[in-house]
Amino acid sequence: MHPTRRLLLHHLVFRAASIAPEETVVSLTPEGSCEHSWREVGQRARRLAGGLAGLGLGEGDAVATLAFNDHRHLDAYLAVPCLGARLHPVNTRWSDDEIVPVLAHTRDRILMVDGGLADRVGPILRRCPWIEHVVSMGPWAGGDVSTIDHDDLVGDSVPVEGWPELEETAGMALCSTSGTTGGPKTVEYTHRSTCLQTMALGLTDCMRLSGGDTVLAIVPMFHAMGWCLPYATAMLGSRLVLPHRDLDPMRILDVISEHRVTTAAAVPTIWNGVLAALDSEPGRWDVSCLDRIVSGGAAPTPAMIRGFRDRHDIEVIHSWGMTEINPVGTMSPAVTTREEAAMSPEARIDHQTVAGRPLPGLSLEIEDDEGRPVPHDGSETGRLLVSGWWVAPGYLHDHPDAARFRPDGRLDTGDVASIDDRGRMAIRDREKDLIKSGGEWISSLDLERAIGDLPAVASVAVIARPDERWGERPVAMVVLREGASLSIEELRSELSGSFQSWQLPDDLREIERMPLTSTGKIDKKTLRAGLGS
Ligand code: AMP
Repeated sequence: MHPTRRLLLHHLVFRAASIAPEETVVSLTPEGSCEHSWREVGQRARRLAGGLAGLGLGEGDAVATLAFNDHRHLDAYLAVPCLGARLHPVNTRWSDDEIVPVLAHTRDRILMVDGGLADRVGPILRRCPWIEHVVSMGPWAGGDVSTIDHDDLVGDSVPVEGWPELEETAGMALCSTSGTTGGPKTVEYTHRSTCLQTMALGLTDCMRLSGGDTVLAIVPMFHAMGWCLPYATAMLGSRLVLPHRDLDPMRILDVISEHRVTTAAAVPTIWNGVLAALDSEPGRWDVSCLDRIVSGGAAPTPAMIRGFRDRHDIEVIHSWGMTEINPVGTMSPAVTTREEAAMSPEARIDHQTVAGRPLPGLSLEIEDDEGRPVPHDGSETGRLLVSGWWVAPGYLHDHPDAARFRPDGRLDTGDVASIDDRGRMAIRDREKDLIKSGGEWISSLDLERAIGDLPAVASVAVIARPDERWGERPVAMVVLREGASLSIEELRSELSGSFQSWQLPDDLREIERMPLTSTGKIDKKTLRAGLGS
């Protein structure tokens, strides 16, 4: 019988080199910007793979990277998995104390490090004696650590001729998250799961990616494989712009207007900053090229979605996902069905504010505390379960959260959601962020959405404060816009139409800056610690 071609990354990610060989990848590194055609990118990957194989890298081995979004990291994204090894992009914002336990789990043989992080390598190496080689990516000032230069490996190595025909369930990447109780968690992405995820990203009903796009990949390549954008552009032959580490909103706008970016993906914190910059200096940037942006990883406010649409003619595609699912789960473009095309502009904002429909190949369910299915009526909430083609089977190591991966293939996400009769999922909270007051649940997320919509508010987080009488009460921690003021009485009166009185915060604390986690989400742990809760 004729053999069935397996779902292996090398069948997908060198497509750009053949269909759009002259299209380019623009890499904006601190040493200067450079451009490589997709044909060159393919050749670089083959030579890097040859060099890494020469260092003894083999199937199943792990290669950690501590790197930003640039052409060298892209080389590794292609070369390591296609060679049959597993790429392990590690979050550069973590402390050594977070990184070392992660590497201890995955026993990476090679560590590839951006030259700007050279000073971090010595202390990590001393605690990770299993690392055999350090590859330096870009100009290096790393003291006494001996390294192999990435550009030499790419320049001097004999290119790999053919790629191994692995099992499609072979691991291609390792993704770790930290900051939870119980230590780091690592999942493995397989060739099969990543190929399917990458194909889905190109769907019209998803990100509408095409070879005609110029894609700015803001989401760090160390965060859940950069949401697979490097692979999607390598499949489609889009122009790819890699911004490296400086993600200041003004710089992002400079890059968008200079490179005529048509779409970009990032967390809402970044997009809020970009929107504020655009609004504060109208006319400074020409963003007429920017058609749509993807906002994922945390909830965007309706005000942000409306602001981009009404003032700048940019569509916000809201997305929900998590590291454990390779990572994109839902997308909410403005219009995908005939019914949505007929929506009023206001109804469409509500439609885009929900996280959206599962991508093809995924299923979403909600259940109550007794494990009973919750109806899909758009209002009742329950624990969100996800199953499907790119949901990881479990963590690689023991972890208290391992039981979230159920034997039937469903993953208990730890999110609380509703689903409507059109399959649209709205995240209502994370279990740990729910506030229980007088035996009743209050959604911090619903409050954050409403408070975030008030004109005086730049950003907001609602957290629980222990309360003798009620158990817990919500506290609104707000950063106000310049020159604005907001009292708790004003806040309560503004929101009184949409919430019950007991659901509203009775405490408002103004803070200067919102603490953020290493992935750019609001750091509620730090906020809670500041409250003593
Ligand atoms: P991570 O694995 O770091 O990407 O975190 C995944 C978690 O981030 C999810 O389980 C959600 O709690 C949260 N998250 C991701 N996307 C969204 C979204 N669009 N709205 C609200 N929360 C989100």
